[in-house]
Amino acid sequence: MAHASEASHASAESARQQSKKARTSIRTRAVVTALVLAFAVVAASADYVVQRGDTLTKIASEYGISVAELAAANGINDPNRIIIGQQLAIPGQTITHQVERGETLREIAAEYGVTVTDIAAANGISNPNVIQVGAKLMISNSTAPTIPPAVATYTVKKGDSLAAIAARFDTTVDALAAANGITNPGVIYVGATLQLSGAGFVADPAPTSASYTVKIGDRLASIASTYGIAVSTIAAANNLSNPNVIRIGQVLTIPGAGSGWRCPVDGAKFMNDWGFPRSGGRTHQGNDLFAARGTPVYAPVSGEVTFLDGRLGGLQFWLKGDDGNTYIGTHLDTMGSPGRVSGGTKLGTVGNTGNAATTRPHLHFEIHPNHGAAANPYPTLRSHGC
Ligand SMILES: [Zn+2]
Repeated sequence: MAHASEASHASAESARQQSKKARTSIRTRAVVTALVLAFAVVAASADYVVQRGDTLTKIASEYGISVAELAAANGINDPNRIIIGQQLAIPGQTITHQVERGETLREIAAEYGVTVTDIAAANGISNPNVIQVGAKLMISNSTAPTIPPAVATYTVKKGDSLAAIAARFDTTVDALAAANGITNPGVIYVGATLQLSGAGFVADPAPTSASYTVKIGDRLASIASTYGIAVSTIAAANNLSNPNVIRIGQVLTIPGAGSGWRCPVDGAKFMNDWGFPRSGGRTHQGNDLFAARGTPVYAPVSGEVTFLDGRLGGLQFWLKGDDGNTYIGTHLDTMGSPGRVSGGTKLGTVGNTGNAATTRPHLHFEIHPNHGAAANPYPTLRSHGC
């Protein structure tokens, strides 16, 4: 489907870089844990982590950019001094994308965070609906992003503190924290994109009634597991004296489901990684919720769900929520059935499909308020106790 790859948050990087990234991410987290109390600013994910034997020249040539550009982008004064484990931001590059069978221009544009018009113009495509399989498209991240930010943003740099940023932009630490779902103002991440004003978006749907009509083959245990609640909870809510006896067509009240907002993954480890740099000048459009493979993934709200298998996002759900927001989760290991779901319905399980194949299993989770551009899901996740 045309919109499939909008969920893809990673990139056209090689598998090698992906695996470096995976190792980085584990290392970064350990560092983050260790340093959280010690420093105001914690270095977090970047596009490339210096490996043993690397030189700036070698890395620059690998990305097809100049040493000067790479040094400038990372505030490196002496290009001969880089440290193993150092994180480097890779500045904008022109990428060549070879069209694969089944891809649409819209999909490709979304994948690289550029517009269809930009790609069409850069490649002399007169009819954007007609692209040839195998064609090599020039994608430049100097082209405008698909969705311009609604409010001013700032990317955290090394040495920044929330107080210093607040002072520079004539706002307060509290306002910045509120706008970005920051619970501990002492910890901000280098590379994170902060919204400078406004309130952080929080999805908070009004409670709705939830009911489930028993179908052929249903057992109470399977229904309970679908909603992630106990058999006894459903039995009690419906005055069922014998949980083994339910009849087809019977309408069951599902306590808790369909009301409020349910965490998509219970007990997931995550941080405010919205806006972290990704290759090609793009930024992370969601939060990564890390959990063991096979951990259930639930619908945060009721709505209409579809499932896709994308080249980058792997198995993914797209939930058009009744609360007016679209929810996207990618890299699923398994997925459920499409159609109408109540909040709390199991949509699948955590995995690492798509381009997350070399990373630890996680749900890449996005919220698109009013079915539009993505907003940082972190404030929503935190405010619902995830
Ligand atoms: Zn992600």
